[in-house]
Amino acid sequence: MNVSVMKTQIHDEDSIRRNVKNAIDLVGGMQSVVKPGDSVIIKPNFGGPRSSSDGATTDLTMLQEIVEEVADRQATAVIAEGPFRQYDTRVVFKKVGVDRLANNLGVELVDLNDSESVEVTVPRGKALKRIKIAKRVLDADALINVPKMKTHHITKVTLGMKNLKGILPGEQKQQSHIHGIHQAIVDINKTIAPDLTVVDGIIAMEGVGPAFGDPVDLGVIVAGKNVVDVDNVCCEIMGINPLHVEHLRIAAEEGLGSAEVQVVGEQVDAVARKFKFLQESTTYLLAHNVAQKADRVLYRLVGKNVFPFLSGKFGRRPIIDKTKCAKCHICEQVCILAPPPAIDCSSGKIDYQRCADCLLCMEQCPTNAISVRGMTSR
Ligand code: SF4
Ligand code: SF4
Repeated sequence: MNVSVMKTQIHDEDSIRRNVKNAIDLVGGMQSVVKPGDSVIIKPNFGGPRSSSDGATTDLTMLQEIVEEVADRQATAVIAEGPFRQYDTRVVFKKVGVDRLANNLGVELVDLNDSESVEVTVPRGKALKRIKIAKRVLDADALINVPKMKTHHITKVTLGMKNLKGILPGEQKQQSHIHGIHQAIVDINKTIAPDLTVVDGIIAMEGVGPAFGDPVDLGVIVAGKNVVDVDNVCCEIMGINPLHVEHLRIAAEEGLGSAEVQVVGEQVDAVARKFKFLQESTTYLLAHNVAQKADRVLYRLVGKNVFPFLSGKFGRRPIIDKTKCAKCHICEQVCILAPPPAIDCSSGKIDYQRCADCLLCMEQCPTNAISVRGMTSR
């Protein structure tokens, strides 16, 4: 299947709009996805109150072009997003400016966290057997996925497949972490497949993504009808082998991508840039392996495990910087072990014997007060 790659000027609205259109035209055009009279859900990435120029959220000019192309097909566009549950969606929509855009364009803006959801069976579900999905998304005639190109501290990248986690209502997003995030992403994508994915790599993000990484002026737009194919091409642009991204490896194993992918428009090499990814530091990996081996020997000798204690000392673990902490308690609310959470912001302590290493607290901390010991950005 075709995946298009286009280069755009970063701060030039005409260039962005022209190249979003070119990218869509090269994979069959909006007319191949949307028919007159259709109801079309457009799902951007507005996971938190952060700006597209920081590399965190979907570019509004790009979103506008897609909305207007849908309207040109005499179809009804609806912008829909469900930010992570601790955020007030109205604040997020206002902060990113999509409420004004939707108002100006006369399109409906839906909070997926607050909309009716339906429980459906996941076909061949492994981590998730049944999930709730917003009814508006299930009832729509077409789904257009408009993710941001970013690194992610848990899943390495967040692109088209991961962006669909936003169509689950609030508490279900967290549930998907508990059941194994990589397989859960694949299961969500087996349940609902977007008809078109257009990735915003205009100002992308590297390093400590998806919230506090560094913006990358990349000027790239990637589009295609198979979301796995699109994500694979994005990985090549970001300089990472897609098979080193766990959810893409599983997606390949489960046959979700195309057997052959044809890149059209710009060639990958012409736009590729080596992104910095968060990686576990060699010292910590070494300490982890030594601790694991020592534990096996000790267990045979005295019948006791020391690994949980040692991994608490050496493993990949979040730490709170009290000077940056606003005591908002969000980290406690999102902790997958709650109640009670493994993190206590009042004392600034984390129970490493219980901590499941999911790093949701780090992802959702609004002040960047949580960092991860034993990880470096490379
Ligand atoms: S560590 Fe972050 S999320 Fe937790 S209370 Fe402090 S500011 Fe809030
Ligand atoms: S304290 Fe541990 S288990 Fe809780 S959210 Fe943070 S990383 Fe996950």
